[in-house]
Amino acid sequence: MRILVQKFGGTSVSNAEARKHVIRHIRKALQEEYKLVVVVSAMGRKGEPYATDTLLELVSDTGSRLPEREKDMLLYCGEMISAVTLCGLLHAEGIPASVLNGGQAGILTNDTFGNAQILSINPARVMDLLQEGQVVIVTGFQGRTATDDITTLGRGGSDTTATALGVALHADIVDIFTDVDGILTADPKIVHDARQLPQISFTEICNMAYNGAKVIHPRAVEIAMQANMPVRVRSTFAESEGTLVTGLSEAREAGGRVGDRTVTAIAHVANVTQIQISQEEGQYDLQLKVFKAMAQESISVDFINVYPSGLVFTVSDQVADRAATTLREMGYDPKVLTGCAKVSVIGGGITGVPGIMARIVEALTEQDVTILQSADSNITIWVLVHGKDMIRAVQALHTKFLLNE
Ligand code: ASP
Ligand code: MG
Repeated sequence: MRILVQKFGGTSVSNAEARKHVIRHIRKALQEEYKLVVVVSAMGRKGEPYATDTLLELVSDTGSRLPEREKDMLLYCGEMISAVTLCGLLHAEGIPASVLNGGQAGILTNDTFGNAQILSINPARVMDLLQEGQVVIVTGFQGRTATDDITTLGRGGSDTTATALGVALHADIVDIFTDVDGILTADPKIVHDARQLPQISFTEICNMAYNGAKVIHPRAVEIAMQANMPVRVRSTFAESEGTLVTGLSEAREAGGRVGDRTVTAIAHVANVTQIQISQEEGQYDLQLKVFKAMAQESISVDFINVYPSGLVFTVSDQVADRAATTLREMGYDPKVLTGCAKVSVIGGGITGVPGIMARIVEALTEQDVTILQSADSNITIWVLVHGKDMIRAVQALHTKFLLNE
């Protein structure tokens, strides 16, 4: 059985015109004789009637009091409305289709409401329906606990539903349909000559997603990567094949350029705060105390550099005040710099290639951009810059590494 999973994001199902495109992609897959699972997100974006953010607004006054368990029951409705609407359209077209919610599709999660982790998937019911020749529409970003409570997988989790089901069903491929043409070398809102990438590796896209690129949820990529299942990111509103995400060796076999290029893309995250604490003599336990305190406050820290005379790390601007207050209450005198941006240079071919950092520094110096901090892993080099320099930094790096060509 050749199985295809198609996932349609919120903007792809938001109005009648968009849904016509969805039907077109479904028809095409059926003509290609795929057994088809369709995962949908809630319709539209903030402000639109059935969007996830709109549902959240309904309880925003009482939201802080409403238990997460009940909040998940509310969020559940957005995807359900979307799924049933699509099912109606398919029946009107004479295409047999059924709707399953996450639990019915066999997605078992833990009980971390609002951000549940998938424990296992038993896709037997999906399989049965596929065998009967039905299109199986599954509501995105949800599951059920062992005690039959509804859970959601965290914002943007429909991508995760799609790849997790794809793996469980041994699908040929998972198509993530969205409102952009694929994965680009940088954010086109900032870099006007950003190019669409025909191919990219799992690790590259994962690094891009964790560093601010918003096209696909990183958790979804990790699931696909573990099972080495190819994913395509493509536009609902176009015919193009989009960007194929695979392992590096598959990409090479397919004649892709993934293996040949050094730098693939530039990503960025704004609204980052740098916190620096210098260590006075005798404060040998500084690191332990600071990071423990941040953990206790549930503040996620990033970009950590520890050195003999102190330490530096970043948090998001949102929690900067809380982090600083906590540290001051502990008797430290943190140096706090808000409104910074983290700019990442990502490429599967960076490893072991000399001169990449030199070119980064050159590009930024030419633009008078100050590097506040830097770090690297095997396929990413990060630099922290002042927020006012972010756009120039991204553009300069994009040009320096010839990503527009
Ligand atoms: N509707 C959910 C959200 O807005 C899940 C998703 O779209 O992936 O986060
Ligand atoms: Mg979404």
